[in-house]
Amino acid sequence: MRRSYPYVGPAELRHTPPAPGSTTVDSPAHISDDQPRTFVVTPDGRLRLAPRHSEHVALAGDENVAAAGEIVFARDETGWRVTTVTNQSTGYCPDPDCWPAVAEALDRLGIRHPGDFTEKLVFRRCESCGERNVVRDADFTCALCDADLPAYWNFAALTAGCVERTPAHVVGGLSAGFVIGGSGEGCAAS
Ligand SMILES: [Zn+2]
Repeated sequence: MRRSYPYVGPAELRHTPPAPGSTTVDSPAHISDDQPRTFVVTPDGRLRLAPRHSEHVALAGDENVAAAGEIVFARDETGWRVTTVTNQSTGYCPDPDCWPAVAEALDRLGIRHPGDFTEKLVFRRCESCGERNVVRDADFTCALCDADLPAYWNFAALTAGCVERTPAHVVGGLSAGFVIGGSGEGCAAS
């Protein structure tokens, strides 16, 4: 069962109307240009696109998503393909292991892709102050309060009451690349 990500961003953005130009992609013909886009994959596997910097939560209609981020397409003689795709969504803070949902949505549309995110963001919620952090350079310290951040993606605790343990990830594109160590320890409900 694939994880579905609830919205974890600021409450005041929840009811943002969808940006003009937001669309559900049912066919590669719906892709119009090579401008960077905000994307979500819905829990039922459909790709939605909006102009870059649109709120993911607006694009998702305040629903859960299977994946979210930013994406860039390019067209060549054989059709559209993905050149850049990230999990950059501070509204959903998805773990990079949401990639298979993106791949399936693109595969279904017959759009070629790089086989993984071209940049992976590591999101962690500070369990001390609640701040959403992007971990950079292996610095697992809250930017707001300096508390240690957990080794594992931990936004599920906001809704499930239980920290979901996920495997370690290799982070590429942000610096030299590094591995977050550790192994699953089960539920850390507190
Ligand atoms: Zn903090």
